[in-house]
Order: sequence, then structure tokens, then C-alpha cells
Amino acid sequence: MTDLKKQKLSTKQLNRILLIDNDTSFRTTITATLAASSFIVDEAMNGLQALGKIKQLKPDLIILDSKLDKLDGFETCRLLRKNPIMTGVPIIMITELGDTDAIHRSFESGATDFIIKPFSYDIIIHRLRFILKASQDSSEIKNSNLKLTTVQRMARLGYWTWDVKHNHFEISDQLAGLCNINLHTFDKTLEGFLCLIDQNDLKMVTEKLLEAPINKTIRHIEYRLQVNQTDSIFVHQEMVKKIENGSPIITGTVQDISQRKASEKQIHHLAYFDALTGLASRTYYHEQIQSFIKIADRRNEKFAFLFLDLDGFKDINDSLGHNQGDELLKIIANRIKQEIRDVDFAARLGGDEFCILLSGIVDDESVAEVACRCLTHINTPLTLGQQQIRPRVSIGIAIYPRDGKNEIEIMKSADTAMYAAKEAGKQCYTFYSKDMALQAISRLEREQMLLEAFEEEQFMLHFQPQISMQTGRMIGTEALVRWRHPKEGMVPPDEFIPEIEQLGLVIPLGNWVIKKACEQIAKWHKSGLPFLHVAVNISALHFQDDTLLDTVKSILDKTGVPAQYLELEVTESAMHVEECVDIIKQLRLIGIKIAIDDFGTGYSCLASLKQLPFDSLKIDKVFIDDMLTNHHTSLLLGTIIGLANALDYKLVAEGVENKEQALVMHGLGCHIIQGYLFGRPVSCDKIPELIDFDFTNRLEIEQEKEL
Ligand code: C2E
Ligand code: CA
Ligand code: CA
Repeated sequence: MTDLKKQKLSTKQLNRILLIDNDTSFRTTITATLAASSFIVDEAMNGLQALGKIKQLKPDLIILDSKLDKLDGFETCRLLRKNPIMTGVPIIMITELGDTDAIHRSFESGATDFIIKPFSYDIIIHRLRFILKASQDSSEIKNSNLKLTTVQRMARLGYWTWDVKHNHFEISDQLAGLCNINLHTFDKTLEGFLCLIDQNDLKMVTEKLLEAPINKTIRHIEYRLQVNQTDSIFVHQEMVKKIENGSPIITGTVQDISQRKASEKQIHHLAYFDALTGLASRTYYHEQIQSFIKIADRRNEKFAFLFLDLDGFKDINDSLGHNQGDELLKIIANRIKQEIRDVDFAARLGGDEFCILLSGIVDDESVAEVACRCLTHINTPLTLGQQQIRPRVSIGIAIYPRDGKNEIEIMKSADTAMYAAKEAGKQCYTFYSKDMALQAISRLEREQMLLEAFEEEQFMLHFQPQISMQTGRMIGTEALVRWRHPKEGMVPPDEFIPEIEQLGLVIPLGNWVIKKACEQIAKWHKSGLPFLHVAVNISALHFQDDTLLDTVKSILDKTGVPAQYLELEVTESAMHVEECVDIIKQLRLIGIKIAIDDFGTGYSCLASLKQLPFDSLKIDKVFIDDMLTNHHTSLLLGTIIGLANALDYKLVAEGVENKEQALVMHGLGCHIIQGYLFGRPVSCDKIPELIDFDFTNRLEIEQEKEL
């Protein structure tokens, strides 16, 4: 360490004394004595010199002779005290023995203490050390008081003290600041304080304050303080009681919690209201139904639970995209709001499910009226983007307490009734009845069985050949899933896919089918056959799953199947959703083929075909069924086929059941035929024998049959 550093370090800890005296020899002796006791001493020969040096020297203590030239010691003391840097710095006045007047004047002019000449140097050193220590302690207290005030200001904290016996009520600066009042105008009584309380809380606060002196335990309370004519702030108050001279003194700390209250309100709003529609949320619904139940019980009344579910919302979401789907939900929510009274309650329970609670109902007819109004209003056509939409809703109704004694039961009944409404053909309302419960149980059982089917691999694939009319040979197959039900036998997909979708299992099922199909292609190939082309049905929802690409890649990787042998069939609706189109494009980039399934049944737009990313079109069975009898259909088919061929898409006719259909389609330019004419879907072991089969035989057999 350098000497300078050492010096700096040590001088920092030493006390600095300014000695003001015009007697040079006295100054010299005393300086030497003090320096020997580790004080740093600065000297000034008169008051003016001292005043001039004070800022620079910053002494910890001043020794000041009362008898000075020009400016006397008392005047010097007074002037020193005026300087803010002298706050808390002790000034010791030197006076003569017997000069009591000087002692009085010393204190008057702001001196801390005095010493009388002549004095013992030992004693004076002790005395100085004592005074310095005391002054440091008091400046620390001052400092911590200052900190406390700052902390209180920052924490928006104030306090009051109430001397109950004398009804003397003091409030702190900070509390006066919080209430926006001048401390001097405060009248220092309990009544004065109560004047500051917001009218809404006055009764409660008065009670709590008045019982505080008597009660053993004192409660913390939250209330509002009026800060001006119109505004108030929220405060949290804690009180403590002590007994002084036999009478209670209550102290209350008061903290401004307006900010916290505002955040609480915001959090409450986020939790209690659905962000999209502004309707009450599910959380709010849970609370509200409890209070509906309580009120109904107390008044011996009934209330109705209406469960609303949009029909075909998924299709709208799939075909028009989520933004438009959200728009529709907002509109529906608004329509619901308009149909209910203030005393009723409506919430969005999630997705496209809503509920309405109608209080104090008299009979089923009045509920039916509201349900009817909702149906009519909600079903009014509207335009979403460019598209005309007719929203449809099914409503299930349950009455409390008739159809359920608690929240869960009543909701279950309404849900059951809603399913019944859907089964009855949608767009209607249905009241709950006991028979429905039995049906609901069987539905539940079925759902349970489907979950088990998944775990126990009860699904299997059948393959339906696709035949080229040009060669008479099978050019590929479509994989179609079946459920081998342990009791019911083979269940066709149309009977369980909708439930699979409802259970949220459509993506796992799709992945399973892709995997099984690829494994089958690999198996056939391993057994010596060429790679066979397999088309797999993928739900539109699955094309929005951004892991689809990786799943497909990894399946191809594991099975060693080249990408071009796997085709994914998707309905047109998915082609109108941006997210799906992105994923479809990426799939095509790695060589996967994409087919548009059931072409012609959705919102077809021939003109848009050019922009869509796909490889083949599957013409739906409805066209095939119709074309021989309906001239318009065959004309339309001609146009579609012409355009598709011009754009170089592969064309497949689906559901071809007889020779005429096959020949006409062939004649129109659609050369690939799939249908019962050439073969039903069969299990995988039947496929190898079809590979070299000449399917034109079937046309001839058909012809022979006719002959
Ligand atoms: P799709 O994709 O249109 O499949 C063609 C359906 O028409 C198949 O019914 C097939 O057996 C049937 N079909 C084929 N040729 C004829 C015919 O000449 N006459 C008649 N009447 N029907 C014919 P399937 O296997 O019952 O499948 C029904 C639907 O289930 C499929 O329609 C498809 O939308 C869906 N599906 C099938 N497998 C899967 C799958 O693995 N995943 C998904 N998401 N959906 C699947
Ligand atoms: Ca298909
Ligand atoms: Ca189809």
C-alpha cells in the first residue's frame, strides 16, 4: 500500500477538529495535545477565518473561544450554526471560570457544550471523545429517521396515533400527504379523522375504531380515504394498542394499496371474462352458478341452464381460418348478450360452447321462449370476410333443481339435452329428460371403448385398389381405417371418426395410419413386390399440426419408403387455411403427394385450383352417381376433367360401381378408377394377388353379365 493510500485510509477514520482561538501559543499547545491523541486539528485565528474555511474543512467538532477579536465567539457560533453543513456538528465554547453569563450565551448562540479555562488536557480529551460519539449516534438516528420517512413515502405508508382518553388524534405528515390535506388544518380528533373516510366505508371504519380500545384483538381493515371531492384511494390499515397511564393509545399504520387494488381488478377481469368475446369466463360461471343455486334454494325458485353449442363450427374454422372463426364467436356472444335480461347470466365455457342461466323462471314455456329467441337471433345469416354464413346452434336445457341438484348434475343434464338436440337434427332446443341419460351413458361407454381401442390397437387398415383404365392394372391403393370392435365386429370409419375427432384423437389416429401404411408398403416391398403407392386420409385439423412434417419424415426414414409412394388425402376445406397450405407445401417439397379428396362437395372454386399445392383430384361419388342421368353433371365433369388435365393433375374417380360409369369417366379423360366395380377395400394380404391382375376382365365380365 502506498503512503498516500495509508494516509487517506487513516485520515478517514480520524476525527477532525477545528480550533478557533486568537492566542497562538494556546493553539500550538492544544493542537499538539490533540494530535497526540489521534485528532486532526485545523486552526483558525478568528471567527471570520473560521467561517471562510468551514466548507472546505468539514470538521467533526469545533472548539471555539468565546473571546475573539472582531467577531466574538457567540456571534461566530451563531453564524456557524446557520451553515447547513454544520447541522449536527458539536461546537464547544471555551469560557472563563466564573463567567456564568458566557455559559448561557454559549447555549443561546447554539453551542453544544462548554469547557472552562484553565483545564486538564486529559479530561478535555475524554470530553471531546464523548461529545463526538454522542453526536455521531444522534446523526445516525437522524439518518435512519430520514430513511424511514423516505421508505414511508415510497411505500405510501403513513400512520396515526389516537389517545382515546383525551380524544387526541395525530396523523403523520405522510398520512396527511396521502389524504391530500394540510396537516395544520387537521383538527386532531377522531371525528376529524373520520371526515377523511370515504362515505361507503365510513360505517365499517367507525365501528372498527370504536371497538379497538375495548376489544382484545384488533382486526386489520381495508377501506377508502377520500382524497378530493371525487376520488379516493384504497388503504390497508393495521392497528396496535398500548396502555399508557391506564388509558389506551391506538396507533394505526395506513398503506396506500390503490395500485394493488387496480392490479387485482385487472387480474380479476382477466380471470372472470373471456378475452375474445367479453362474456363471462368459465371461472366466473363456476362462481355464478353457486350463487344461482343458493338464491333458488333460499327463495324456493327454479332456474334454467341453457347449454349452447355451435353446429359445424369446426368446418368454419377449417375452411375460413381461425381469425374468421374468432370473429364468428364474437358475433354469437353479442347476439346471446342481447337476448338475456340483466338478472340472467351468460358465459363462454370454452371453444364454441356457451351457457345461459335464467333466474326465477316460472315454467318451461318461458324458458322455451328465450331458447327460441336465441336460436332465431343466432341463426340470422351474416357475412364473414367474403363468405355468407348461416350460424347454427343447438341448445340443451336443464332446470334446477328438477334435472340436477348441484352444479355438476345440472350441467351434465344440459349437456345431455344438447347432444339430443344435435341428434334430432341440430338447430333446435331440447329439454332434458330421464331417457336421455341412458343414451348419454351408452355414449360415454363408447368413448371409453374408443380410448381402449386406441391403447389396444383395435384399429386396422383395409386397402382399396385404384385401377388405370389405360393399362387395366392396379396403380395404387387407398388405405381405409376400420375398428375391430371386440363385440360389434368391424366398425366402418364414418361411425367412429366423428367421435375420434371429439375426443381429440384425430391426430394420433392419423399418425398411426401413416405409420401402418408405410410399414405395409415396406413389408410388400420386402416380400418381393415393387413399391406400391398408398393414399392415406388425413383430417384437415391434422394439417395444422406443425409436427406433421417431422412425423412423416421420421416414419419414411424408419420404414425406408421413398416419399413419392405416400399420398395424403385432404378435403378441400383445409386448402383454404393458410397454416395448412404452408405445411402441405413443405410436405410436397420432400416428395409426398397430396390429393384433394371428395372434390366437388365443398366450397369448390375451379378458378382457384391453379394456385393450390396438390397432385391429384379425387372426384366424389356424388358426381359419379349422378352423371349418367343428369346432363348438367356430365357437362360439369367434362369441364373439371378438362381443366385438371390441362393443369396436369392426376384424376381419380371414386365410388365407381358399374361399367358405364367407368367407361364414361374414361371417355371424359379421367383414367384412374376406384370403386366397388374393381374392388372393395380388402385386408393387406389380398393385395399381392391383385398386382398382376388385369382388371379389364371385370369390364368384360360386366359386359358378359349384361349379355
Ligand atoms: P373416403 O375418403 O371418401 O373413402 C372412400 C369411401 O368410399 C370408403 O368408405 C370406401 O369404402 C367407399 N367406397 C369406395 N368405393 C365405393 C363404391 O363403389 N361404392 C360405395 N358405396 N362406396 C365406395 P369407408 O372405408 O367407409 O370410409 C369412409 C370415410 O371414412 C372415408 O371416405 C374417409 O373420409 C374416412 N376415413 C377412412 N379411413 C380414414 C382414416 O384413416 N383417417 C381419416 N381421418 N378418415 C378416414
Ligand atoms: Ca379418401
Ligand atoms: Ca373420398
